[in-house]
Amino acid sequence: MDNRLRKITIVGGGTAGWMTALNLDMMFSRTSAPKDRPHICLIESPNIATVGVGEATVPRMPRMIREAGISERDFFRETNASFKLGVKFCNWNKDAKGNRIDYVNPFAHGQMMHGLEAAEYFLRFGNGDRDFTQSISPHDHLGRLCKGARQLGQPEFEQRFGYAYHLDAVKFAGMLTKICTKRGVEHIQDEVQSVELDEQGNVSHLMLERKGRHDIEMVVDCTGFRGLIINKALGEPFVEYSDYLPNDRALALQIGHPDPEKIESLTRSTALGAGWTWRVPLYNRVGTGYVFSSAHRTDDQAADEYLEWLGDSGKGATPRVIPLRIGRVRNAWVKNCVAIGLSGGFIEPLESTAIHMIDHAVRWFAEHLPTRDIDPSLRARYNRQVNKLNEEVLDFICLHYRLGNRTDDQYWIDARTEMKISDRLAENLDLWQHRLPMDHDIEFATLFDYRVYQTVLLGKQVYDTGYGAGIRDRLRPLKKPIWFQWKKGAQADLAQIIKTMPDHKTLLRDI
Ligand code: FAD
Repeated sequence: MDNRLRKITIVGGGTAGWMTALNLDMMFSRTSAPKDRPHICLIESPNIATVGVGEATVPRMPRMIREAGISERDFFRETNASFKLGVKFCNWNKDAKGNRIDYVNPFAHGQMMHGLEAAEYFLRFGNGDRDFTQSISPHDHLGRLCKGARQLGQPEFEQRFGYAYHLDAVKFAGMLTKICTKRGVEHIQDEVQSVELDEQGNVSHLMLERKGRHDIEMVVDCTGFRGLIINKALGEPFVEYSDYLPNDRALALQIGHPDPEKIESLTRSTALGAGWTWRVPLYNRVGTGYVFSSAHRTDDQAADEYLEWLGDSGKGATPRVIPLRIGRVRNAWVKNCVAIGLSGGFIEPLESTAIHMIDHAVRWFAEHLPTRDIDPSLRARYNRQVNKLNEEVLDFICLHYRLGNRTDDQYWIDARTEMKISDRLAENLDLWQHRLPMDHDIEFATLFDYRVYQTVLLGKQVYDTGYGAGIRDRLRPLKKPIWFQWKKGAQADLAQIIKTMPDHKTLLRDI
């Protein structure tokens, strides 16, 4: 019997739906003859809007764009994109004197010096320095000075150091729509009204409002927080992360640039009274939002706090309220349905991870999808991978709260003391009171390896504010000149980079 997969149906036309369509189509066209490729169709309701946020990305994104055959110039122009060099965390922690700490988590890695981590030398000798990131990378300086990520006229995708993008989510989905339909993906604008299952519990067909019955072989649920097929039709339970993370609502507002010539090449996350705000500067506007806990603020209270933070930019505006479903489905792949994007799960967007997670999920799905006959072991392995990815992100986000030290609002105390963390993270946090994070501490890392953990620990100055007190006395003896010599060279390199990099807005105009 011919067990070739002949058709894949994607339901949902947000970032997740179109990224899935593009990745699957690229994979099939690279690997199979036209007659053997499954037909891909995407059904999108014309009446249900996409979530319309999700505008900051991580450094895998340029590779994804390049692999999709998209020119970076077209991408920048069509999505009003800008460069992102990292995330600036403002006022999440206080230093030993009680002053607010602002530090950058850059898209750059620390280095090895004579077989040891630069971070260890920094911890021992870097007392007088403002922060670790500024010693090892130019990202903070470049971001603050509104400089770009590469020279004018340099080839597309060329990277001297890691970068990602800020993009307009709605325009990005629009660009993917055009690319996919041109490649032959069928686009059906219709609403799924009901989902029918066969005797084995597989999805057999969908009933569409206008077109009627749509038969299913394999379906990808990209219906956002609704989880129309995975949760509602197949009844797969949703595993809440509310014991781990306090925030469950967001407010969002787009504002103009206070100075259109100055575009910061960083995402900013600023801690407020009951959560944190994002600030994502695009070419033509700024996306902002406030992610907060409804146990600590009503929508009105949060809106007042948020608008006050926005100042003149928020005057008279009414932010959009977005309830957040934080957690993941128990299994993202059930029977002949796989949930990708917000339908599969969502962890608060502190490190802009959702698009990265979609990208991984689609690739893993394609790898585990040989034919129509899906052996349970394939589904099980896929689900294990996706769950590990969720745990990777969850641990890293929890770290920011657990190592916070603010006491000015009950929210921050609760976020630090009342929220659970995984046994993995708890064990590491015990260990890191005695030494810095090392390679083998993090067993699964698509994005957050031990060096990113080092950056957060040192950025928050946790070794000066209680956690791991006295660690410096317990560090191995090191030769001081090694650090100072290395630092001198590194600072000269940084100064040169900072001097020669172009203004961000000028670079974007050039692109
Ligand atoms: P949606 O955009 O909600 O799309 C759902 C689609 O399903 C729509 O097309 C809708 O029409 C369709 N649909 C629903 N029901 C039906 C039906 N019955 N019939 C037919 N079609 C249907 N991610 C990042 O990477 N970086 C960030 O900085 C970031 N920030 C975020 C901030 C907030 C506050 C939130 C909530 C999310 C953020 N995300 C971020 C996540 C990101 O927005 C999403 O992962 C991404 O947009 C994908 O969404 P989606 O496609 O899964 O769902």
